[in-house]
Amino acid sequence: MNHPFLDLPPLTAEHFASIERRVADLLGTRQDVVVTQGEALLPLEGCIRSGARPGSAALNVVTGPYGTTFGNWLRDCGAEVVDLEVPFDTAVTAEQVAAALAAHPRIDFVSLVHAEAATGNTNPVAEIGEAVRAHGALFMLDAVASVAAEPLPADAWGVDLCVIGAQKAMGGPAGVSAVSVSERAWERFAQNPAAPRRSYLSLLDWKERWIDGGRRALLHAPAQLEMLALEACLDRIAAEGLSAVQARHAAAAAATRAGAEALGLAPYVKRAAEAAPVATTLRVADASTVAAKALAADPQAPLAAGGGALAGEMLRVNHYGAAASPAAVRAGLTALAAALSADPAAALEAADAAWEPAAH
Ligand SMILES: *Cc1c(COP(=O)(O)O)cnc(C)c1O
Repeated sequence: MNHPFLDLPPLTAEHFASIERRVADLLGTRQDVVVTQGEALLPLEGCIRSGARPGSAALNVVTGPYGTTFGNWLRDCGAEVVDLEVPFDTAVTAEQVAAALAAHPRIDFVSLVHAEAATGNTNPVAEIGEAVRAHGALFMLDAVASVAAEPLPADAWGVDLCVIGAQKAMGGPAGVSAVSVSERAWERFAQNPAAPRRSYLSLLDWKERWIDGGRRALLHAPAQLEMLALEACLDRIAAEGLSAVQARHAAAAAATRAGAEALGLAPYVKRAAEAAPVATTLRVADASTVAAKALAADPQAPLAAGGGALAGEMLRVNHYGAAASPAAVRAGLTALAAALSADPAAALEAADAAWEPAAH
């Protein structure tokens, strides 16, 4: 019996390579792009284990929970790690990064998260990239929560390793991700005896056996469904227009922020310019109870309490992918109003009024 997503013809190497080229276009990069067949933590860990080694020194910027994970991997690789932690209600500044680099001249690797879906902030990568470039360190950027939601010119920003995933603003599945790798990152990896080789975490395997071989033979059977889904994401973004997709996310963020403020809630990220377009976080006491009430009112509402210790003080409203729409934003605010036993009318009006100006 024919099934819509089983019994498909095999995905060819040529088809796989064409999807990689389209991801490169999305990132505005002329570097090699490797599509990785797993959740974005796969290329993130692969980059760190390839780039860090005993004797290396890393600056790990922590603006949310992923930074903590990166720091742990870097330490596990034997690197000396300088953690630059900033409060989760702000962005890191290029001045802070430059000062940390100046204080630790040996730093040769910098890890940074662009937008933080978990804490709702976004960092000024263009300025930070300049500081990292001036220092000469390799620059890894976790752009999982920013790709398609905000501008991400990886090459113009001097990003050596730009990691994306399909599951946020691209509106796709979590099982596929990608990384762009600069020439000097490849060189660093090749010189690292501890870099994963003949391993699922290995990026060098893809360089040596796939890219250098002219992209003719895949390393293993490709994750066909995920590749087709990634291609469908790229088609859908192309049909809408990348800048329109980004504008829709910016509008969802502005509308959610305005609506929440009309409900008397304070944005967790104080400055709107530092708020991520994929998720709006709010400072709410006993957030897990409020989230439970909101979800009882509407089980589909795109919101959740903050993770871990943040559950007591942070409520997160997601608005990425299909949820970056006026209807989803309104649904989230309506559920939130129900949880607070408030009339949603003023919040919905404020959200509607904020949408248009932010979408242009
Ligand atoms: C979503 C996200 C990831 C992927 O992690 P999940 O926990 O699987 O969602 C990685 N980095 C950032 C910044 C993300 O927002």
